[in-house]
Amino acid sequence: MSNNHYDVIIIGAGFAGVTVAREVCQQGFRSLILEGRDRIGGRTWVAHRLGHDLELGGAWVHWFQPHVWSEISRYGLKVTASPKPEKAYWITDGKQYEGTLDEWYEKMEEGMKQLLKDARKHFPYPYDPLREFKGLKKIDHMSVGEKLKELELHKETFDLVYSLWALHFNSTLEEAGLTQAYRLAALVGHNWKLIQETASVYKLSDGTKALIKSILNDAKGANLRLSTIVSKVERTSTGYKVGTIEGNEFTSTSVVAALPLNALNNIEFKPKLSVKKRLAASEKQASMGFKFWARVRGITTPFILLAPADQKINYAQVEELNDEGGLIVGFGCDSTKLNMENQAEVTKELRKFIPDIEVLDCTGHDWIADPFSLGTWAMLKKKQLTEYLLELQKEEAGLFIAGSDYANGWAGFIDGAIESGITTGKNVAKYLQKNQNTNR
Ligand SMILES: Cc1cc2nc3c(=O)[nH]c(=O)nc-3n(C[C@H](O)[C@H](O)[C@H](O)COP(=O)(O)OP(=O)(O)OC[C@H]3O[C@@H](n4cnc5c(N)ncnc54)[C@H](O)[C@@H]3O)c2cc1C
Repeated sequence: MSNNHYDVIIIGAGFAGVTVAREVCQQGFRSLILEGRDRIGGRTWVAHRLGHDLELGGAWVHWFQPHVWSEISRYGLKVTASPKPEKAYWITDGKQYEGTLDEWYEKMEEGMKQLLKDARKHFPYPYDPLREFKGLKKIDHMSVGEKLKELELHKETFDLVYSLWALHFNSTLEEAGLTQAYRLAALVGHNWKLIQETASVYKLSDGTKALIKSILNDAKGANLRLSTIVSKVERTSTGYKVGTIEGNEFTSTSVVAALPLNALNNIEFKPKLSVKKRLAASEKQASMGFKFWARVRGITTPFILLAPADQKINYAQVEELNDEGGLIVGFGCDSTKLNMENQAEVTKELRKFIPDIEVLDCTGHDWIADPFSLGTWAMLKKKQLTEYLLELQKEEAGLFIAGSDYANGWAGFIDGAIESGITTGKNVAKYLQKNQNTNR
């Protein structure tokens, strides 16, 4: 076979793709990573804006996330914490309130308990999410929004619980899978407050780029081509032919599409991907929102703020306090509603909570409009777990799909991308070994 033939071509240099490359390289296989953007990292991206290195995508990690934590230990990276909030501001029933963090949590306690009551029964083994398949199938038609309505909670409790889950899903909750909420609860040992902690406190001191670079450096011999957008994957008699929009072609024995679910259908596969895979990709996962950063004046203590999903800003927290004021990071559930670069718009929204706050500058990245992601973090919609997960994880004649969106555990998080990268890497290596043996 020619020198240009690879054992595996990996499409996408996010955490999943780069981890697959490391796993297969360590087994002695030749790999080529084709990445559409001019950088690695995918939905994690450290960019220098507002005078700071800002995480525009995924950032927070936690020791409850075993795969990412193990990589942090392996590469000896340091972790730091976002400032501990001393105050909470929230909007419920159209009115604005403030209190301590404990008071804020307290108001949600009963609603969260009721909502997550059956999580343990349905997810006794969080890393084997389909083990209780029969029972899951019976509840997977339900969204978090529908379940919350059924509980007939007090309006304030309803609004707060709804708002926090809207943050976790980065969308309204009418389509958000109840099973996805249960799975998260199971992953944190049924302590719902830890869901918030895992996703908003601890971050890498040198940024996510330090971690992904460490993994890539360990993928010894992997070839990486940036700014190479794959448009076609075609099965041949010897494996695969992978074509780019510029008309280049590469061949390999196997292929890993390490792509977001929402971007999977951008590539023309020949033969087509299974019907269920294509359906899942066209239905898309739930996230519709955005993450923004603002440099502000007029704040003196770390706080969090939370509002229902119909507000343009659903959540924000202080990431840094300094002589000028500080840095705020926040989220909203609908990327079309707020121009993250518009100082006046962001000021207006933040002033709903803190009347004298002044936004000096603000920024963000529109991951929903970005053709390489078409979504933020992947949270499954109702029915998707039992309908599609198993199928999405299935290999089709040497063609594998990898990514956080298809993980067993922390799907939607960096941890899930690494988990899926490790599992897929192992499966690709097995496939290639079997292939070598039969061709001998
Ligand atoms: C705003 C935001 C906030 C988040 N916050 C957190 C957080 O705090 N903690 C956490 O753990 N997770 C968080 N996440 C989620 C986390 O970032 C992702 O789950 C994870 O990075 C996904 O990795 P991946 O490798 O599966 O996919 P991706 O990172 O999306 O990688 C896929 C790669 O494929 C490339 N690609 C796509 N199409 C093509 C093509 N046709 N040809 C070639 N290349 C292509 C993309 O450019 C990309 O590099 C957040 C995500 C976002 C967007």
